[in-house]
Amino acid sequence: MAHLTLKGINKIYPNGFHAVHDFNLEIDRGEFIVFVGPSGCGKSTTLRMIAGLENISKGDFYIDGKRANDLGPRERGVAMVFQSYALYPQMTVYDNLAFGLTLQGVDEDVIDEKVQRAAKILGLTDYLDRMPRALSGGQRQRVAVGRAIIRKVEIFLMDEPLSNLDAKQRVTMRSEITQIHRETGATTIYVTHDQTEAMTMADRIVVMKDGYIQQIGTPRELYFDPVNVFVAGFIGEPPMNFLRGTVQGGALTFGDVAFDLTEKVGDAAKYEGKELVLGFRPEGILLGERENAYRVPATVELTEMLGDNTNVYVDVADRKAILKVDPHDTPDIDSNVVFSIPFENVYLFDGETERRI
Ligand code: ATP
Repeated sequence: MAHLTLKGINKIYPNGFHAVHDFNLEIDRGEFIVFVGPSGCGKSTTLRMIAGLENISKGDFYIDGKRANDLGPRERGVAMVFQSYALYPQMTVYDNLAFGLTLQGVDEDVIDEKVQRAAKILGLTDYLDRMPRALSGGQRQRVAVGRAIIRKVEIFLMDEPLSNLDAKQRVTMRSEITQIHRETGATTIYVTHDQTEAMTMADRIVVMKDGYIQQIGTPRELYFDPVNVFVAGFIGEPPMNFLRGTVQGGALTFGDVAFDLTEKVGDAAKYEGKELVLGFRPEGILLGERENAYRVPATVELTEMLGDNTNVYVDVADRKAILKVDPHDTPDIDSNVVFSIPFENVYLFDGETERRI
């Protein structure tokens, strides 16, 4: 287990592209950190700088308090699993797992013990004699993870390791990786663009966009306390709804809808004439009229029955929103409904900076 410090880390590629800006993060021993964000936001670049596969253009990286910028990948004590998990095709699963240790000249009995143990953790015991081509995608992925965990490393880095798997395999592997982390205790950094993976696996999540950190926090903090529109919309499925309007006479106004802001911000006068964004989660509403809530008239455009809930797509004065309701309460398509957003479920953002108010 290692403690990692990233101080003012930047990456500028040789073509001049500034991919990562001023990245600051302290990672505790044994923590499971997830970097999440849309394609191109700089997650892999940051991970590769930590692995020693990319040089750091500016800033300092420390492992257990020692500056590690100039250490090679092997000297950093990291194991890495990539999206493309190239296995050696001409070697059995056993030999694929054992390969790294064999190279290091580790004793055969020790290797055998470690291979058997990794195989057991990953459910590969029955496949040790097989060639990679005779495995499913999920099994190959597990061999790739096994190859990484078999070496005793302090730092475990994973870059979208589940992206080649189908939905069911992803769910299984997600919990397996969490389990492995619990058993090995290695400090882990996991890169994904999938917010569900981030939410279910992370101790803390780093949300990135365009090379900048947007927010760092526990899954709970990001869900309940997002700092801006981007994080609020990225975490949660279906995403948070946003209604953009202008403050008129102390009320957020659009179309024929007006929400009295005094309930939310006290003195609304300072926002007069400004554009604000009102956010609420699909699951943060109640059908019908309630006390201490904004009352919202809407027209139902589409419903999706998902079993445990129904997603209701509505139009609110020409803005679109999704509501999560009990399937027994599913309204008819084209019907007019009223729903309520309890004040405590309302998020307000500055319309210009998109920062939370
Ligand atoms: P993805 O989920 O698509 O892998 P990512 O968040 O991991 O995205 P990176 O791979 O870190 O993103 O890339 C960040 C940005 O840096 C992208 O705009 C990418 O095009 C750019 N980039 C990556 N490698 C290089 C390179 N060698 N030279 C120049 N630009 C690069």
